This record gives sequence, C-alpha cells and structure tokens, in this order.
Amino acid sequence: MSKFIKTPYKIEVRDLINRPGTMHERHLDIVVPDQLGESLVAVKAGSVLATELRLESLHEGILVTAEVSGIAAGECGRCLIDVELPVQVEIQDLFAYSLDEAFEFEVQDDHVDLEPLIRDAVVLSLPFQPVCRPDCPGLDMETGLRLAESPVLEPQEIRDPRWSALAGFQAFEDINADEDINVETDREEK
Ligand SMILES: [Zn+2]
Repeated sequence: MSKFIKTPYKIEVRDLINRPGTMHERHLDIVVPDQLGESLVAVKAGSVLATELRLESLHEGILVTAEVSGIAAGECGRCLIDVELPVQVEIQDLFAYSLDEAFEFEVQDDHVDLEPLIRDAVVLSLPFQPVCRPDCPGLDMETGLRLAESPVLEPQEIRDPRWSALAGFQAFEDINADEDINVETDREEK
C-alpha cells in the first residue's frame, strides 16, 4: 500500500463510497502549495483557488465536478509591469474504485486527488503572452521606459521594487549617480 500524504487537493469521499445516488456539494478554498504554471504569469504558491465542488457517487466510482477560480500573477509580456489576471476553469472526471483502461483516475485511501486535473486545466488557461492591457505599447527602445502614460501617475500599479527605477526621473538620476560612484571606485583601485 502506498503511504497516504495529505495535500490541499485531496478530498475525502468516504461517505460517498459505494453509495450510488448520494451527492455532496461544498465550497473549498485550496491554498496552492506549489506554483501552477511556468510562463510569464502563474498562480503563485500561497494564493487561493476558490473551488465549487460537486461529488457524486456512481456505481463505478466518484464523479468530480468543480469550478475553480483564482488569480494568476506575473509580468506584462510587452512592458514588464506587474499584472494580475483572473483564472477560471472547470474540471470534471470520474475517479474509479478500481483502475482499468477506461479510467485515468482512482479513489485512493478514501480520497480523490484533484491536483493533476486542476494543475492541467489552470496551466492550459494561462495566456502565453499576457498583457497589462490589450493595446499596451510596450517599452521605449532607447530609454527602456514604458510608452504607456507615465507610471508616476499610477504608482499603485508598481508593486515590484525592481521596477521602482521606472517610477520617475528622480529615481533614474539616483541610479546614474550610483553608477558614477562605482566607476570612480574602480578607477581608484586601478
Ligand atoms: Zn504592458
């Protein structure tokens, strides 16, 4: 027997096993243990997937239906500003009591493990090229600054301190000053 390891994706279905016709509906907040997605935006570890879950007992196993919604966070593919995008997916699959060619998933240790279903659906739903807005003009080729309206006017959009250099000319000057100091230090060493 495999050793049972509880995860936020594993739902206990003991009350439903071998009781065809019975059904449970419940709301579940899944706190994501590991990031979902590897591209510019992902559902980050620690964020919540609000899950409306329906579990139905059938002769062959437990039919799981769920609506899952959360937030993916990352960067605009054009101007690199932080973006957050809503994620909403639906999953449905049968978890069989005994595995055969017809069924991909199995009830194990009185639980159904929704992780592969949710992970696949969420990752597939993430945009390959996320944008902060459909007409984002990207970055200026020479200055590297956003071509959209000045970020100074919308500081609430700048959440990542790495991009604070883009927040205004003053910050830009400070960085130049730092670089000058470094250059002089290098010269003194030589
Ligand atoms: Zn953008």
